[in-house]
Amino acid sequence: MKHNFGAGPCILPQEVFKQASHGVLNFNNTGLSILEISHRAPEFVAVMDEAISLVKELLNVPEGYSVLFLQGGASLQFAMTAYNLLPEDKKAVFLETGVWAKKAFAEANLIGNAEVIASSKDKNYSYIPKDYTVNADSAYFHCTSNNTIYGTQMHSFPQTPVGKVCDMSSDIFSRVINVADFDLIYAGAQKNIGPAGATVVIVKDEILGKSGRKIPSMLDYQKQIDAVSMYNTPPVFSVYTAMLNLRWLKAKGGVAEIEKENNEKAKALYAEIDRNPLFKGTAAVEDRSKMSVCFVMENPDLEKPFLKFAEEKGCVGIKGHRSVGGFRASLYNALPITSVHALVEAMQEFAEKNV
Ligand code: PMP
Repeated sequence: MKHNFGAGPCILPQEVFKQASHGVLNFNNTGLSILEISHRAPEFVAVMDEAISLVKELLNVPEGYSVLFLQGGASLQFAMTAYNLLPEDKKAVFLETGVWAKKAFAEANLIGNAEVIASSKDKNYSYIPKDYTVNADSAYFHCTSNNTIYGTQMHSFPQTPVGKVCDMSSDIFSRVINVADFDLIYAGAQKNIGPAGATVVIVKDEILGKSGRKIPSMLDYQKQIDAVSMYNTPPVFSVYTAMLNLRWLKAKGGVAEIEKENNEKAKALYAEIDRNPLFKGTAAVEDRSKMSVCFVMENPDLEKPFLKFAEEKGCVGIKGHRSVGGFRASLYNALPITSVHALVEAMQEFAEKNV
């Protein structure tokens, strides 16, 4: 058995994989594959509708917001948010907490005016900046809730005089959030939502139609809302499997329940990182992520041998991103706590052999 700590695409529940494969062979006992029916067929329209309503239900999305399943990943949202929300005469402001935030800023800056108002680049993005002011004449404030590469997470969001736009790619559905605090939330599907190929957007309707820009149709949120996420052919497999995965989350008791499990998983792993003399965490303690746990070894020469040792114990996907080094254990919703225990045991056994 493999314990999959990969950062994304990543672990999804085994039962979701089984149901999805069944749908590929014989969708809802129609004798047809989900991959060979029209996206306009009532059977697929029902899948899209259920996926959208599960997002609304699980995140308690208030009235006045729309939910979309789009394509292009979180990366296309970097540009799409600017097209839709950034007027010529205003500036979007960015919190630079890593490579993804930097890319979001760069794309907005291609389309209009954008500015980084605070950055943690000075310490390789190992903390979340907290001392900054958002001007009331900004177009919007953009932040990244979980910094997948560096293992930092925003545990609270600032009060801002303008709307917040948040990239929640790597922690959406992992904890309770108040959607009403944001004007727009986006997330690539390939972590806690489902397979790669879809992108979830939650947008407050009243902010749209105000950028004054000519927006290519595929990038126009209003056109996508009007077409119920089917302006063109949607990524049917990704949406279908996301729907199955969100059903799984609902059956588990929803986001508040999974958050408890996620807290337990993170607590167990950080406790071992802090206790074990061979390892140390890389993120500022108060900003540690509960989804992406980054750590290195006091003696870097032991990193390769530990990686091999952990793999022998079935713990895969823990190699850190090259810009941080060491290890990164992603603790997404589908990862059971028993997998965290397996990694902790591997760390303990390795320490016994190497101290
Ligand atoms: N933002 C964050 C926080 C991410 O972790 C990632 C991907 N790992 C992206 C954006 C880019 O997502 P995509 O590949 O869907 O464009």
